[in-house]
Amino acid sequence: MPPPETRPLYAFFISGTDTNTGKTVVTAALLRALRTAGLAAQAVKPVQTGISPAETLISPSSDAFAYKEAVADIPPVPALCPAAILHCFTLPASPHLAAAEEGKHLRAARLCHDIRSHWQREKTADLLLLESAGGISAPLNATEDMSDIAAELDIPVVLVCPNRLGSLSHVFRALAALTEKGLIPAGVVMTEAASTDGRPTPARILEDNLEMVRGRLRLACPDRPVPLLALPRLPKGADFWKRAAALLTPLATELGARRRRDAPGLVSRDHAALWHPYASALEPPPLEVASRSRGNRIILENGRELVDGMSSWWAAIHGYNHPRLLEALRRQAGRMPHVMFGGLTHAPAVELAEGLVRRMPEGLKRVFFADSGSVAVEVALKMALQYQQGRGRTRRTRFLAPYGGYHGDTLGAMSVCDPVTGMHSLFADHLPRQIFMERPRCRFDVPFDPACLDEARHILKTRGEEIAAVILEPVVQGAGGMWFYHPDYLRGLAELCAASETLLIFDEIATGFGRTGKFFAAEWAGVSPDILCCGKAMTGGLLTLAATVCTEEVASGICGGGRVFMHGPTFMGNPLACAVALANLGLFEENRWQTLVTGMQEALAQGLAPCRDLPDVADVRVLGAIGVVELRKSVNTAALHGFFVDRGVWIRPFNRLVYLMPPYTSPLEDVVLLCAAVHDAIAGGLHKSAC
Ligand SMILES: *Cc1c(COP(=O)(O)O)cnc(C)c1O
Repeated sequence: MPPPETRPLYAFFISGTDTNTGKTVVTAALLRALRTAGLAAQAVKPVQTGISPAETLISPSSDAFAYKEAVADIPPVPALCPAAILHCFTLPASPHLAAAEEGKHLRAARLCHDIRSHWQREKTADLLLLESAGGISAPLNATEDMSDIAAELDIPVVLVCPNRLGSLSHVFRALAALTEKGLIPAGVVMTEAASTDGRPTPARILEDNLEMVRGRLRLACPDRPVPLLALPRLPKGADFWKRAAALLTPLATELGARRRRDAPGLVSRDHAALWHPYASALEPPPLEVASRSRGNRIILENGRELVDGMSSWWAAIHGYNHPRLLEALRRQAGRMPHVMFGGLTHAPAVELAEGLVRRMPEGLKRVFFADSGSVAVEVALKMALQYQQGRGRTRRTRFLAPYGGYHGDTLGAMSVCDPVTGMHSLFADHLPRQIFMERPRCRFDVPFDPACLDEARHILKTRGEEIAAVILEPVVQGAGGMWFYHPDYLRGLAELCAASETLLIFDEIATGFGRTGKFFAAEWAGVSPDILCCGKAMTGGLLTLAATVCTEEVASGICGGGRVFMHGPTFMGNPLACAVALANLGLFEENRWQTLVTGMQEALAQGLAPCRDLPDVADVRVLGAIGVVELRKSVNTAALHGFFVDRGVWIRPFNRLVYLMPPYTSPLEDVVLLCAAVHDAIAGGLHKSAC
C-alpha cells in the first residue's frame, strides 16, 4: 500500500533520449531558475549509478554535486537541501545492471514508494525535479524502464535531447515512448552538441531540428503548446549556472505554474453531463475518478490505489494494461484500425474465428462477431428463429429460459432475463412473451437431484411446438444472482432439447475464458449446445467484442435454399478488437491460467469462510475465480462503496450479493485483502440500510 497522501506530489520527471544528453545540466539549471523565482525546489536522483554511497553529495561526478553547485551562490531555502539521492550503486552502468551487481532488484513500484515517502518527509519542498538514470527507456528490470516511474507517479516529463546531426530519430522515439505510457511532455530542451565526429553541428541543422521537433510536439499535444527550448553550449565559468538558468527560465515559469489541482471537478462535470449504469441522472450514485490502471490495481485521480476485485465486470482477466494485449492493439492500430466487414475480410478476424473454434465445445464451427454481449444474445435468438423458419417450423417463435437468468439489456435479450430482476414490468407491453421455468435449483456441490428437470421436461413435452430454443447460462447464473448449479442439469436438459427438436443456446458471456475453472463452463457437463455466446473477457478487458458461434447444422438450416442471416453490425469484426482478442487467446495457450484460477479458488474459499459465521449471511459459495457472499437482505451499496474505497479495494455489491471475481493474475495476498474487506464490512454492519 502506498503511504497515505497527505499532500499531492508536485514533481516533474527530467529524462532524456539517451544517457549523456545534458539532463543533469538542465535539471540543475532548472533548479536554480525555480529557486530564483522563489520556489522551494529540490533536485532528486531516485537512482544514481557510478558513485559509492559515501560520496553521493561530495564526489564531483555525482549529479547531486552539480545540483548543489548550481545554487551555491543564491540564498538557500531553510531546512531544504537542494539535492537528494535515494538509491546509489557503485558500478557505472544501466540501473538494472548496477543494482544487480549489488544483489538488488529495482522495481518501479518500490522506487515510487520511496519518492512519495521522500516528498512527505521534505515538508518544506514545493516541487521536486526527479532526474532519471539514463534515457527514458533505460531498463529498471526485465519488463520495466524509466518511463514506468513517471507513469506510476503520473507526472509530466521534461525531455532533454542533444541537438546534432542524427538526433531527430531519437527524439521522436522518446516522444513515442511517452505516448505509449500515457505521459505528457511538460517541455523539451535541446542541448547543442557536437556531431559524432566531434565537429560542431552547423546552425542550419540545429535550427531545422528544432523546427521538426516543434512540428511533432504540435501533433502530440494539439491542445496545449509544449515549451521547446534550445540550450546552446555555454563557456564553463563563474556565471555558467546563472546563464543556463536564465535560458531555462521560460520552462521553469511554466513548471512552477502547473501545480496539480486538488479538485479537478470531474465528478461534478460528470453529474451534469453523464449517465452511469442502472443509475439516476438526477440523484447520481457515489463516483470515484479513475485515472490509471495497472496489473490488478485501479489508480484514482487523488493517487489512491484500489485492489481490483471485479475485473471490470468479468473482463480484465489478465489484469489491466497487459503488455501483450497493448502490443497487439498498437500494432493493429498502426496497420488498419477498422474496415467494414461487408465484402471485406482480414487476418485478425479469420485467425480469431479459427482460434475460437479450436477452443469451442465440439461441433460449434461458425462464428458471428457482435459488438457486445447483448448483441451476441440478440444474434443467437435471431439465429434460432431463422433456423426454425428455415425448417418450416414457423410456430416455434418463443424461448424457454430459467428464472434467475441474465442475458443483457436490449429488448430481445431482456425478454429472456429473469422477469423480476430483469424488470419486465417496466417494458411489459414491448417485450416478446417468453416461457420461464424454475431455476436449476440443485447446487453445484451436492449430489444431483433429477427432479430439478421435471418442469423443463413437462414444458418441452406440452409446449415444445412453440419453442425455438432454450437459452441459459451454463453452471453459473451471473448477474441474476451469482448462483452455481449442478452440471448434470445441463446434460439432462440437452437430452430433453434434442428429443423435442428445440435448439439449446448457452450464454457463456460471463463464464467463458476460464472464470469457472474450465475454459467454457459447458465443459463441466461435457455438453455442446447448438449456439454459444461469448464476450466480456474475450479481449481481456480492452475493447468491446462478442461472438455467437453455432453448429454447421444451425448454419445450414438458416442459409439453406439461398437464404441469408439477417444481421450485420457496423463495427462487425473490428480489426483492433479481433487482434487484441487473438492475443488474449495466445495468453491462454501458455496454460498457466488453470493454476492461477485453482489457486484463487482456494484463496477465495479460505478468505470468505469466516463470513459464514456472520448472522446476516445466508450463504457463502466459491467456484473457480468467483467468490460470493449472499446476505439475507439487500445491501446498502452506497455505504459499502465508501467503506471499500477507504480500505483500498474495488468491490461492487448488488442486491443481496457481495461478490469477488478478481483478475486471475492477482497476487494471492491481494485476494486475502479483498476477502478480509468483505468480511469486515459485513461484520461491521455496513451492509445494513441507513434507515
Ligand atoms: C454481461 C452479460 C451479457 C451482456 O453483455 P454486454 O456486453 O453487457 O451487453 C449477456 N449475458 C451474460 C451472461 C452476461 O453476463
